[in-house]
Order: sequence, then structure tokens, then C-alpha cells
Amino acid sequence: MPPILDHVLVLGGSAAGMLAAGAIAPHVRRVTLVERDVLAGSGPRKGLPQARHANNLTPVACTLMEGWFPGIIDALVAAGATSLDPGGDAIWVLGDRPLARASLGRRTLLASRALLDGALRDRLRSRPGLVVRDGVPATGLAGTARAITGVTVRGADGDETIAADLVVDASGRGSRVVAWAAGLGASRPPEQRYRVGVRYATRIFRGRRAPDGVAMIVVAATAARPRGAVAFAIEDARWLVTTFGYGGEAPPPALADFRRFVAELQVPALDAIAAAEPLDDGAVIGFGDTARVGLERWRDAPDGLVVLGDAACALNPCYGRGITAAALQVDALVRELARGGPGLPGRSHRAVAAAAAPVFELQQSIDAAIPGVTGAVDATPPPIRWLVRRARRVGERDPVVARTILQIGGCEAPRSRLLRPDVLWRVLRAAG
Ligand SMILES: Cc1cc2nc3c(=O)[nH]c(=O)nc-3n(C[C@H](O)[C@H](O)[C@H](O)COP(=O)(O)OP(=O)(O)OC[C@H]3O[C@@H](n4cnc5c(N)ncnc54)[C@H](O)[C@@H]3O)c2cc1C
Repeated sequence: MPPILDHVLVLGGSAAGMLAAGAIAPHVRRVTLVERDVLAGSGPRKGLPQARHANNLTPVACTLMEGWFPGIIDALVAAGATSLDPGGDAIWVLGDRPLARASLGRRTLLASRALLDGALRDRLRSRPGLVVRDGVPATGLAGTARAITGVTVRGADGDETIAADLVVDASGRGSRVVAWAAGLGASRPPEQRYRVGVRYATRIFRGRRAPDGVAMIVVAATAARPRGAVAFAIEDARWLVTTFGYGGEAPPPALADFRRFVAELQVPALDAIAAAEPLDDGAVIGFGDTARVGLERWRDAPDGLVVLGDAACALNPCYGRGITAAALQVDALVRELARGGPGLPGRSHRAVAAAAAPVFELQQSIDAAIPGVTGAVDATPPPIRWLVRRARRVGERDPVVARTILQIGGCEAPRSRLLRPDVLWRVLRAAG
């Protein structure tokens, strides 16, 4: 079947944009990726301040990425990324004690964001039919309130309009695309938003994965402890440790204070990592709101435009699901492109929104209990809320329950998986 679209323009060259460009390319004749920053080297860039902090992939994201970029997982491992089973090779502290170790039977990767983005970028640049235009900021949309026909950009030779059959907005949480569409007369889609007020501090330490195979430690925030940390064994024999606090609590980057913050989390394996030789001076970053654009209810959305990634659903980064959510949204879009036929933009928006909404809702239900978070609503029915709390405690002893919790958190299974008889039985019959 011939491609249904001639030219797709992807706006934004970070994870969502690169995954989208690579995934869409086989389904259309041409793809152009437009990125404001110059994409060169592995140093920090203005549009990606999160690159110095922990950026997590899940098995779901790895599987999708490998499908769109065959061989990329092996290439990343060869470049030093750590391959792990996030159930068996990690310590997860979601409450007072760690979850039981439970293999997920699937693997994921730990790497710096620079290594990951560099691998994606190299593959994009060598794809036929795909052009990367970096150092080129988009300044607006071309077209009307009914149909977007391209993007205006500021290039080296002045302003120009790049025509496209479909514009995919992957320009991140600061995206102006919905506002630009409104400027053309389109309505604005509804939005869900709540305040997390999260602050991060990240440091790099020398060290390799632990002798028992542990390569990742996750200490989640709870209602009693609105702070946490993650540690990833990454390339070049380093551990990347990101600490975070809610409600204006700012983890300190200075070494002694950073170690004290880590020690207060009372996870000895994390203390041991942070006691090693420091390899940088630390970095900090903050986030105000988490927000989801209600694309499924954007009734008169213009044709020729799809919004995805952080631009559509800016998640709380403490859960490390931004790249996974972006991959799930790209997958939903590509399935619609492959189906073809009429009504593509409307269908795409509904499919993309359906991929992101459960991730947002799950996080919102947990965030709603955390002090300092405002405006979050936990819509979970009280019996399920009780079951989730109990499952978390039982999962500290029972590997089957622990595995189910990690599958739900890893976007591999819906929360209703806890109601499956074999899991429910274990949760209910356990003592305590
Ligand atoms: C501190 C922090 C920690 C995070 N930790 C994790 C984690 O552990 N795991 C995880 O999965 N996710 C994490 N995330 C989220 C993750 O980084 C994003 O979800 C992921 O990068 C996908 O976002 P995106 O590509 O949609 O947007 P972004 O990464 O924000 O990228 C948007 C891109 O669009 C470009 N752009 C913006 N405006 C324009 C314009 N006008 N013209 C051209 N280009 C433009 C920007 O330069 C940028 O390259 C974290 C985010 C932050 C901020």
C-alpha cells in the first residue's frame, strides 16, 4: 500500500521527537525533524536541562525503541549502558521496606541521557528519507483553524515556512503549539493540571553495579516521607544518583549535605554508592506543575496536527515514566498511520491520549497523598485504594505481588491486574 502521507514534520528533537521521527519514517515518504538547539556532541544543551539527571527506560520503552531502531539496544550495551531485569536486579523501596526481589523476565537499560540521545540521533541521521534540521527554532504554525499545513521556522537565512501533511508536536512541556493553533482561531483543548513543586539534586559517583547484581535503587516518596532518590549504574563505571523532594523541599547538591540527605532515606546500599568518589559538582533542577492536555476532548482540533510527548502529557519526573509514555504515544500514532483511511487526526489524538492517560492517572493517585502536592485528585474507588496499599505491604514479602506492582508501575499492566484471582488471593490471604 502506498504511504498515505507525503511529508511529516516532527517538532522537537528530544526523546519523543526522535522516537516519533524514527517510528513514522517507514509509513510516509519523507520526515523532517526540526529542533531549536544544535544537536552535536554529548554536552548539555538548553532545551534538555533534565539530561544531567536520572532518565529511566522501562522494558516497554526498550521493546518499542528496538522495534523502530533495530539493533539499538545491543549498540547501547556495547557503548557501556547497563542491561538489567528491573525486578531482579534492583532495590525498590515504595513504603517502609524494599519489595521482594522478583524477576520480570524482561530487560531494560540504564544509561546517561547523553548516551541514549546520541544513539537515537546517529540512527536518525543515517535514515533515508529523514532530514534533521537542528539549530532551527519553530516560531508558529501555518494554515488555518481547520487545517495545519506546516510550520514557520527561523533558519540561518531568515524565516521560512516548511509545508507538511502532518505536524507532530514533540516540543516538550513548554510547547507553544496549542497557543499557536489558538492564534489561528482553533479552540483550546481542556487540560488537567496539578502542582508537585518537585526539586532534584543529582551527583555522579565512581562505582559499578553491586556484586549481587543490583544496578538500580529506587526510593519512592510517601505521605510520611515526601522525598526520595534513584541510583542508576550507568556507562563508564559510574553511578548517577538523583535525590528529590516535594513541596519546595530542595535536596542539597553540596557533597556533605547530599550524603546526609541520602543517609536519611535509610537504605544502606544507597549510602554505600554515595560514599564513593564524587565525579562532578552536582546539578539541580525544579518542576512546578504536571499537566495533561485532554486531546481526546479537543473537538475541533485542526487537521494535520498531533501533539505528543511532554507537550501532551508532562508527567511528574520522580516516577521516571516520561520516555515510556512518549514511546507509548508514538506507538499509538504509528498504529493509526498504518491503518490509514479517513479521520486520521481525530483518531490519532484519541489514541495518543488513551496511551498517556492511564500513566498520568496512576501518578496523580499516588501524588494526591503526598504533602506539598496541590490540586491532585485521587479518583480511585476506596476499596481499590485499600487494596493497593495492602498490596504494597504484601509485596515486601511476596515476589508474585511485587512483580505485579512493578508491572503496573512499568506501564506493562493496568492497575486492575491486582484483581486477577492469583494475585488478589495472595494479597488478601497474607497476614498483616
Ligand atoms: C529533571 C527531569 C527528569 C526526568 N526524568 C525522567 C526519567 O527518569 N525517566 C523518563 O522517562 N523521563 C524523565 N523525564 C522526562 C523526559 O525527559 C521527557 O519525558 C522526555 O525527554 C520526552 O520529552 P519530550 O521529548 O516530549 O520533550 P523534551 O525532552 O522537553 O524535549 C523537547 C524538545 O523540543 C525542543 N523545542 C522546544 N521548543 C522548540 C521550538 N519552538 N522549535 C524547535 N524545537 C523546540 C527542545 O529544544 C527539546 O529538544 C524527566 C524530565 C525532567 C525535566
